[in-house]
Amino acid sequence: MIKNKQAAEIFREFLKNGKNRITPERFEVMDAALEIDGHFSADELYIIMKNNKSRVSRATVYKTLELLTQCDLLSLRNFGDNMKRYESNYKRQNHDHLICLDCGRIVEFTNNKIKKIQEEICDALGYEPSTYSFNLFVRCKNKKECPYYHGN
Ligand SMILES: [Zn+2]
Ligand SMILES: [Zn+2]
Repeated sequence: MIKNKQAAEIFREFLKNGKNRITPERFEVMDAALEIDGHFSADELYIIMKNNKSRVSRATVYKTLELLTQCDLLSLRNFGDNMKRYESNYKRQNHDHLICLDCGRIVEFTNNKIKKIQEEICDALGYEPSTYSFNLFVRCKNKKECPYYHGN
């Protein structure tokens, strides 16, 4: 049973056009990935699926996440720690991220000016905007709320 039918249509078209195999496992990974409200690594998703008694292999999870990113159902995020994290784009508002360098807290925000700047730069240089990535690396001002802050 596929839960996200509209997303499944997008994914099916994409797989077909790219001559990728269409397997039930890939849709199982898609549903599990779209269900997560937030950022996750491939291994985290694999463990969640295992805990839900899925028999999908780790390799299938990795490969499917790549395919879901290529067709824009997921976004790939890099928050500066060289760990690939994914996030659903499906039925979610586009947003950017602020990351605390001390505790690793990730805060999502939206600001229309950033999108405008992207368009202005592309216009000026003669390109068409596709995607962008905007991360702010910060430190919590409130040290009590920054659990990994160890003084100085
Ligand atoms: Zn996010
Ligand atoms: Zn912090």
